[in-house]
Amino acid sequence: MVCQTVRQGFECFFMNKKGCQFNGGSCHPIVEQCNGCQRAMEFPTGTYCLSFPDPAIKWQAGNCNLATHLKKAGNGTSRGKLNPLKASKRRAH
Ligand code: SF4
Repeated sequence: MVCQTVRQGFECFFMNKKGCQFNGGSCHPIVEQCNGCQRAMEFPTGTYCLSFPDPAIKWQAGNCNLATHLKKAGNGTSRGKLNPLKASKRRAH
């Protein structure tokens, strides 16, 4: 259903006829690490993540797996690395 609380107008899994079913009754604002991420969006109610209702949880155990501002750095370093599938085939021969 479409959100009626902090991310008004956006489709959300937690919204139903009774209101927002997420813990606390609404999304939690982004955390410092989210700055620069394209999924963070400003609403009249604050800045919220378009993918996760509680961004702090996504950063508790390391980097958020959907952070768009971190992916760019990762792509540059993975270049030239051996394809793990090919590597395992080589070892098998
Ligand atoms: S996708 Fe991750 S890094 Fe980006 S705003 Fe959401 S929680 Fe933050």
